[in-house]
Amino acid sequence: MSRTKIWTEIDIDAVGKQVGYFRLPLAVHDRSGDDASYNYEPIPIVTIRNGVGPSVLLMAGNHGNEYEGQVLLMKLIRLLEPKDIRGRIIILPAANAPAVRADRRNSPIDDGNLNRQFPGDANGSPTAMIAHLIESEILPRVQYAFDFHSGSLSAEYLPVGVIARSPDPARFAHSLDYLKAFGMPVSMVIQHSTGGDGALIGACRRAGVYHLSTELGGGGTILPDAVSLAEHGLARLLHHIGILSEPMTEQAAPSTRILHRVPAANYIYAANTERGLFEPIVKLGEEIRAGQVVGRIHFTTVPWREPEPVIATAGGVVLCRRIPARTGLGDCLFALGRDWDPMSA
Ligand SMILES: [Zn+2]
Repeated sequence: MSRTKIWTEIDIDAVGKQVGYFRLPLAVHDRSGDDASYNYEPIPIVTIRNGVGPSVLLMAGNHGNEYEGQVLLMKLIRLLEPKDIRGRIIILPAANAPAVRADRRNSPIDDGNLNRQFPGDANGSPTAMIAHLIESEILPRVQYAFDFHSGSLSAEYLPVGVIARSPDPARFAHSLDYLKAFGMPVSMVIQHSTGGDGALIGACRRAGVYHLSTELGGGGTILPDAVSLAEHGLARLLHHIGILSEPMTEQAAPSTRILHRVPAANYIYAANTERGLFEPIVKLGEEIRAGQVVGRIHFTTVPWREPEPVIATAGGVVLCRRIPARTGLGDCLFALGRDWDPMSA
């Protein structure tokens, strides 16, 4: 594996608290046509290290327009001092920095979706270089990686913590424990991640790093309840794995309802061939059953036409809903979960 071409002035193994940037050289990717061949893309990095304890990567901005996790980690950066921890915390609050600056899911430089680019490439596109940096330089230094996502512009999610099923019972039991310590009202166990081996979760599997991700609201805004739940949850989580000397929250972990996602074929999709306005009539977290009317599509060019009902083809708990109102055939309106059975494979 080639060494990363991304450089930094900070020693990421040093003791104490350091703030600075990873600098991604843009020489070969500059599209401005100007003489900008020595410019770099700044990717903020913070390291906090003190004494002996576990090492953890905290990451947000994997997708640039998912904001709750970015705010969560910026608050933590300003709050945490070396005396508060034993071990090491590496924080990338804007991992795909070009995407974060552009308020986009993917990088505006190469249209790269960071969470599909692992293991990355030291000599590849900027997004591939970031994936390579994380996989080759950061993950070998940590035992845990917590990656904070939200529902993006197109969807709003219930605030959930997510872990993947592990074939190793002891590792899986450990992951379930920290999922419960994070303690969102609803949690999710997934069989496989959408991004597969190209996602951070795949990189963590290759590196033997424990992983947790989230969906914390979304919709292109910042949901205060989701941030607050995650702040308390993250404090409990970091204390649970032994890196925070004090819990930093008075709030005990509430009991969490653990779900799994139903297969994507059983999500609820728009069936209207003429595009119309989607009126959802069920809420996030609501339990719905097959055959239930869960929304209506209104046709703005024929206002006197009866709206088309949206009918659930399967039952479950509403995990996420579509945000844009204008909707047509193939658009996903709701994703669903069902109670997870610990006995299932
Ligand atoms: Zn995301």
